[in-house]
Amino acid sequence: MNRQETMAAPESDQAHAREVEEVLSGHRTGLDGLTSDAAATALTEHGPNALPAGEKETRLKRLVRQFRDPMIYVLLAAAVFTAVLGQVFDTIVILAVVLINAVVGYVQEGRAADALESIRAMLTLSATVRRDGTWSSRPAEELVPGDVIRLGAGDRVPADARLVRATNLTVEESALTGESVPAAKSVEAVAADAVLGDRTCMAYSGTTVASGSATALVTGTGTSTEIGRITEMLSEVETIETPLVRAMKKFSTVLAVVAVVMALAMVAVGWFVHDYPLAELVMAGIGFAVAAIPEGLPAVLTITLALGVQRMAGRHAITRRMGSVETLGSVTTICSDKTGTLTRNEMTVRTVVTPAHRFEVTGTGYGPSGDVIDSETGDAAELEDHHDLFAMAEVAERANDSTLQPGEDDEDWAVAGDPTDGGIRTFALKAGAKGADERRIAVVPFDSDYKYMATLDTHARKPEELVIHLKGAPDRLLDRCDRQGIGLHDTEPLDRDRWETEIHELGARGLRVLAAAARSAPDGTSTLERADIDSGGFVFLGLYGIIDPPRPEAMAAIERVHGAGIDVKMITGDHADTARAIAGEMGIGDRVITGAELERASDEELQDIVREHDVYARTSPEHKIRLVKALQANGHVVAMTGDGVNDAPSLKRSDVGVAMGIKGTEATKDAADVVLADDNFASIAAAVEMGRTIYDNLKKAIVFMLPTNGGQGLVILVSLVLGMTLPITPLQVLWVNLITAVTLSLALAFEPGEPGLMERKPRDPRESLLNAEAVIRIVYVSLLLGGVAIAAFLWAQENGHNLATSRTLAVNTLVVGQIFYLLAARFTRARSLRRELFTTNPISWVCIALMVLLQLAFVYAPFLQTAFGTTGVGLDLWLLPVVAGVAVFVVVEIDKGVRRLVG
Ligand code: ATP
Repeated sequence: MNRQETMAAPESDQAHAREVEEVLSGHRTGLDGLTSDAAATALTEHGPNALPAGEKETRLKRLVRQFRDPMIYVLLAAAVFTAVLGQVFDTIVILAVVLINAVVGYVQEGRAADALESIRAMLTLSATVRRDGTWSSRPAEELVPGDVIRLGAGDRVPADARLVRATNLTVEESALTGESVPAAKSVEAVAADAVLGDRTCMAYSGTTVASGSATALVTGTGTSTEIGRITEMLSEVETIETPLVRAMKKFSTVLAVVAVVMALAMVAVGWFVHDYPLAELVMAGIGFAVAAIPEGLPAVLTITLALGVQRMAGRHAITRRMGSVETLGSVTTICSDKTGTLTRNEMTVRTVVTPAHRFEVTGTGYGPSGDVIDSETGDAAELEDHHDLFAMAEVAERANDSTLQPGEDDEDWAVAGDPTDGGIRTFALKAGAKGADERRIAVVPFDSDYKYMATLDTHARKPEELVIHLKGAPDRLLDRCDRQGIGLHDTEPLDRDRWETEIHELGARGLRVLAAAARSAPDGTSTLERADIDSGGFVFLGLYGIIDPPRPEAMAAIERVHGAGIDVKMITGDHADTARAIAGEMGIGDRVITGAELERASDEELQDIVREHDVYARTSPEHKIRLVKALQANGHVVAMTGDGVNDAPSLKRSDVGVAMGIKGTEATKDAADVVLADDNFASIAAAVEMGRTIYDNLKKAIVFMLPTNGGQGLVILVSLVLGMTLPITPLQVLWVNLITAVTLSLALAFEPGEPGLMERKPRDPRESLLNAEAVIRIVYVSLLLGGVAIAAFLWAQENGHNLATSRTLAVNTLVVGQIFYLLAARFTRARSLRRELFTTNPISWVCIALMVLLQLAFVYAPFLQTAFGTTGVGLDLWLLPVVAGVAVFVVVEIDKGVRRLVG
């Protein structure tokens, strides 16, 4: 049975069965919305418009989960064996280690989860709401029943709402009804018993506007929404994992199994070949298993990743899908929008061209101070004397969805709505238009697919007449005009060539060009459809030339990513000339191709086109997906930016989808891997850099930790095969594995980008993490660490030291060797003896200092001596470990040096 039908309809829901006026008066509100006071009172009454957070894993569950790990099973088995063998003391220490390991894992996972949650919190939903008679953008959480909100294509509906006005509105409601085809909406009331999917006059929280626009009255918020009734909670947050981390976790599990099998084999060999006593053999087997398994690795990887995404968020790039962190490091092409990402999206009309005049506009910012100067006379032009200017100002005011909010001075004025609209409205105010009186009857909202916006209004001076005002991309408007004029009644045939030249000239100056047109509408018209626009018959009124300055930081970022072997492509809806001018100025390139040419090209031809062009002008969102595919077919790893609802498919298709946090629609953010909090291209470059850094650090942690296991495994294996006394006891192995390796490798999570990071070519995504270079390093460092530990032990035995001292010396040698190896491992290829070793990662020195203290305690603190069978050693016995450490460091540095020379 249908779930919707089984649910009892709460009374507030009857909004769908009542007429607009009735619903408005029922909520004691009008189209001007609530006052701030009324909203504040309602907020205390209804509570915030949010669903309770999803059921989080309880602390106890998280703690219990730490024990569900094959490596812990091995340790627990070791505890049982030692207990059976009567080594109760060892049992206690092993159990203590298991406990400490669980607590460390628990705390680190907690930090990781907190990091992720704080990042999620940055992605709060906002809503355009009318309070005290003005529109503003507010957090959706603040909405209350009675609020009047505005919805546009790509918006997530922030609360349940009754539509009051709707233009071509369709809403994708699959979250609620399971129906994936967007439902058409209108304001007419429906039957009281209509099921959710049939309530066409309602927009429900959690659904997404697919097209059109609407004004609506909020009827239900928070848990009183339909979605709230169904789910009652938010979905779980994503876990901190990437393909790499997942692979490594699997790898350590496999390693655990292999280690256990090898340990059993060793015990068998020892039993049959060397005739060892069983108890000692079992201890050695346990020691080996414990040594070979990288117990601390998963925790270290998780924390490295968590810290990385947190730092990335600090640089305005919010990760939505963890896997993208790795992909970012191998990006070879960034496809970026122009407006707002590469440019500032601060639109100022500079030039206005009409059939009769050319005007220059002065003043900066969105404030109205500034003049409209007639270029011919050099005088300020008045609206009364210039019908053409009046017509341009009229279109600017009517076909406009923005509101300007006054500030202290002109620079501080802000726009609510589209900046292009804002800039054009500012021009109207500067020209002397009066502003605000709404005469709109219907609207076709702007969409980057058809690139215009139109309104049906009553005539400014003759209220009985109706006019359609149209503004948008000049080529689209020219196609729909057959005459040009300085008003609707003073016209001549359209001189298209002249306008093409004007557009080209304005574009070549880097100006963004929009055009204005109008036509009369028959009496009694009350709706406006795209068909009414596309049927043509408009009078061309002129052009607005708008500057939108490039972002200087984006220019610097383009240079940096070029240096890192990454191509930058500009994909814009704007005109070819404008795009070329801006792209040239920003250093992207000047090889331009237009959407129309892309359309004519086959998929194969497109593969050549993307090799040869940097700038894609006059594109529509559906071109983007073809471009991504062509680039990918050429072997590129593509990051693609987007903001509009139609960009979602290309963001999904790209390797890293990047959504704009400010101007992006909710639909795009949902489809994206990364959201830019500041819409800035420079943040994409920063994200790529962080992606490379995080991947490096994960790799560094692995290449640092595995030799510990290799070295210790080797020590036990060799000693058993040769029939010698174990140079390190199983408990001491645990110490090195968990305390030393984890303490030290944590330092790598804080490692900033390597010198020369952005001069490297992108990483080949097919390259395996453990490439030859890494495997060779792991093997020889294992041999070195294992070798020096055995050597130290044998030397001590030779020189008459007792067993405890010899073992202590062996452990010290391993630990000091690791400290020195850490210094070498902080830089993958670059020389470690550099200033950055001391300056860029202070945490690493804290980790080292902490490790030294722990190790001193291990050697000299009586209770640790008892626990681990160590004993105090003289100062002279520290010389050997230090020499061994320096040797490890030198060897690794030589290896790096050779690789620098060869590679
Ligand atoms: P980008 O794709 O780089 O963000 P863009 O903002 O120019 O650049 P769109 O938003 O797709 O791309 O706009 C395409 C064209 O539509 C613009 O070049 C302009 O001519 C026209 N246009 C943009 N905004 C509006 C608007 N608010 N009203 C009418 N027409 C507009």
